[in-house]
Amino acid sequence: MHIKSIKELDIANKSVFIRCDFNVPMDEFGNITDDRRIRSALQTIRYCLDHDCKIVLASHLGRPKGFEEKYSLKPVARRLHSLLKLDIIMAKDVIGEDAKTKAKNLKNGEILLLENLRFEKGETKNDPEFAKELAKFGEIYINDAFGVSHRAHASVEAVTHFYDEEHKGAGFLLLKEIKFFHHLLKRPTRPFVAVIGGSKVSGKLQALINLLPKVDKMLIGGGMAFTFLKAMGEEVGNSLVEDDLIDEAAKIMEEAKRLGVKLYLPVDLVVAQTFSEDSPIKYVTYKEIPRGWMGLDIGPATVRLFREALNDAQTILWNGPMGVYEMDKFARGSFQISHFIAQSYAVKVVGGGDTADLVQRAGDDEEMTFISTGGGASLELIEGKTLPGIAALMVENGEEE
Ligand code: AMP
Repeated sequence: MHIKSIKELDIANKSVFIRCDFNVPMDEFGNITDDRRIRSALQTIRYCLDHDCKIVLASHLGRPKGFEEKYSLKPVARRLHSLLKLDIIMAKDVIGEDAKTKAKNLKNGEILLLENLRFEKGETKNDPEFAKELAKFGEIYINDAFGVSHRAHASVEAVTHFYDEEHKGAGFLLLKEIKFFHHLLKRPTRPFVAVIGGSKVSGKLQALINLLPKVDKMLIGGGMAFTFLKAMGEEVGNSLVEDDLIDEAAKIMEEAKRLGVKLYLPVDLVVAQTFSEDSPIKYVTYKEIPRGWMGLDIGPATVRLFREALNDAQTILWNGPMGVYEMDKFARGSFQISHFIAQSYAVKVVGGGDTADLVQRAGDDEEMTFISTGGGASLELIEGKTLPGIAALMVENGEEE
């Protein structure tokens, strides 16, 4: 199976419909606070400009219920304009009269941005009728929206059925995401170390199970570590624990032992009495979490332990913060691990979502080999799933991607 790259398609002078992921965070005044996803789409857009295409861009933003001005893609059009130094024609609707007229009048080398795809109910329903209308915007369909490729939505899945193999493919960003995760899971340079954190075991259980036979070491931090500590018989006070997953955590530890995977858990923690920045804190070992206190970050000894374990890594996959990094008081462990990974000579791949945000806050984003633009999508790849948006672009012949 193979995924056709935009480079393998004959796009010159054609109209190209590109599904992008412009789902960027904004503040309460509608200012874009992080434009990484927009910048990541530029390579594909520029490639189409170089081939004199008529370019129609589409994306969703947030979770609007029908048309809601605050979810308009106008700020994205402005940012695209300032990054590309080109006029961006903004449609007032998605498949309405305005979008259709503007698409009809589009000249080669011009860019039209449709309004938020989720203003139309058909998008999340994977509605073929809606997809059919979208397909009219381009002779060629390109998916460059990795962040939504795990969703069977009309602009990602249903739309692909209106194109044959010669007329659909993946943009540069989508290909890069697939390439990194594929390489990581199939041919990592060893030692391969996974650093897994975040709030709960339940959210990452499948990822842990799928990763275990592939890695040499697994470092577990964040809230999920407490379910593992409890499975070892430790008292964890009021820390986040999923009692129904204690047996699963024990099984994962047994399986790690059987496979020879070195599994590390925190040996000390920053504990607080309440889940708040004002709460007094203490550093304690994992055997001394006081009753009524909760662990909200890994402690300094764990940072040293994790650094030692990461020292010989040639490949590092990081998904999930080591503590409640949104609060300064509990961000130190995550930031220190971030700095250390950033300085390592290993291939270091960071999952999207919270981990990408944290690495950026720590000022380490430039140093990472690759930061995924999709939190949910990258997690599903790590879980070993085939993403609907990627499956829809697979063609039978050709070598494996
Ligand atoms: P996830 O979405 O599962 O990757 O979890 C990310 C969230 O986990 C972040 O918002 C962190 O604040 C939270 N988190 C990390 N460590 C802890 C902890 N020890 N207790 C509670 N929440 C945590």
